[in-house]
Amino acid sequence: MSVQQMAGVDGGELEVWIDQDLCTGDGICAQYAPEVFELDIDGLAYVKSADDELLQDKGATTPVPLPLLTDVIDSAKECPGDCIHVRRVSDKAEVYGPDAE
Ligand code: SF4
Repeated sequence: MSVQQMAGVDGGELEVWIDQDLCTGDGICAQYAPEVFELDIDGLAYVKSADDELLQDKGATTPVPLPLLTDVIDSAKECPGDCIHVRRVSDKAEVYGPDAE
């Protein structure tokens, strides 16, 4: 599936969340997409809201801005903890990450 298809030509939007239970804290995601991911003082990565607020609730999601889609997908690919989940907002189907089909 292409990145464009994942983004959804039908206007389907994507969101991303991190399973902190599996995060190794290496910070790869925060290097690739610092607008979306950040390490907190607990040494684990969290997603950020559009206005730069760290979202620390378990399973918190944030929208993936289209210009950052490739960076977010690369983060999920490289994530040593396999714990970055990218899914469609509309039906919550994972399109990239350990649970993607
Ligand atoms: S790349 Fe994965 S394991 Fe590494 S800090 Fe980010 S979420 Fe955690």
